[in-house]
Amino acid sequence: MSNSLDGKVALVTGGGGGIGRETAKVLVDHGARVVVADLSEDAGNGTLEYIDGGDAVAFVRADVTDLASMQHLVQAAVDRYGRLDIAHNNAGIEVTGPDLADVTVEQFDKVIAVNLTGVFISMKAEIPQMLAQGGGSIINTASSLGQAALAHQSAYVTSKHGVIGLTRAAAVEYSDKGIRVNAVLPGVIQTPMIDALEETYPGFKDALLTKHPIGRLGTPHDIAEMVAWLGSDAAAFATGSQFAVDGGYLAI
Ligand code: NAD
Repeated sequence: MSNSLDGKVALVTGGGGGIGRETAKVLVDHGARVVVADLSEDAGNGTLEYIDGGDAVAFVRADVTDLASMQHLVQAAVDRYGRLDIAHNNAGIEVTGPDLADVTVEQFDKVIAVNLTGVFISMKAEIPQMLAQGGGSIINTASSLGQAALAHQSAYVTSKHGVIGLTRAAAVEYSDKGIRVNAVLPGVIQTPMIDALEETYPGFKDALLTKHPIGRLGTPHDIAEMVAWLGSDAAAFATGSQFAVDGGYLAI
């Protein structure tokens, strides 16, 4: 089975951010046509400039917390490129805060709305199109913190554990209909999200480095290549699983 993405159409949510931007580029490099989706128009347009992929890439503003917006995104991909084969549900936010008892209900709800309900809404919008065309591959971005906890991240940890459950649930329901559903679990990846945390909590990055036996933080490219493989026919038997790309984070 080939790992080429020739002829395939993909969408990437959070496509204006660190991991999503690089994933969109790698998908185009492997032959796919890609719709970059993000809440931020500036970030999305920045990705188009970064990829410089001509007609093979387009930006559509979309909010993963809004079903109508996600349905519009899927329709836009179909209108432009004719189908939807790969969905990388990757938009996410991070709120590092106080210990659990001091996290506000609003803070908790906000993280769950984007990171977890957003993945549910995304799949709810994507699956009907994939069913109609006979299949597809969905890759949800979870995290090492989908299988382990870190202090001061209760909402985030909860949301990413939930993404793994949602991934398994979707895989059990749709794998026999041609839709594979998997999660990618990045370790700490050098992106604007991590830069923002380092600004708030100086020393954050060095502390987390010790959790990566490989001796470095990850790059968006490390994650993008896994997403491209999961989206390809080479991954035809992979479904309902978690693919850690984490420099050994979960091995400790
Ligand atoms: P990032 O902040 O660079 O990018 C996230 C993007 O998501 C931004 O462009 C933002 O505008 C967009 N976004 C936020 N809310 C949205 C919404 N409601 N609808 C649509 N788009 C929205 O972050 P990143 O580091 O590239 O993270 C991408 C994903 O990877 C997230 O799900 C994150 O939790 C996960 N992750 C990141 C790391 C890391 O170390 N960077 C580690 C593990 C998992």
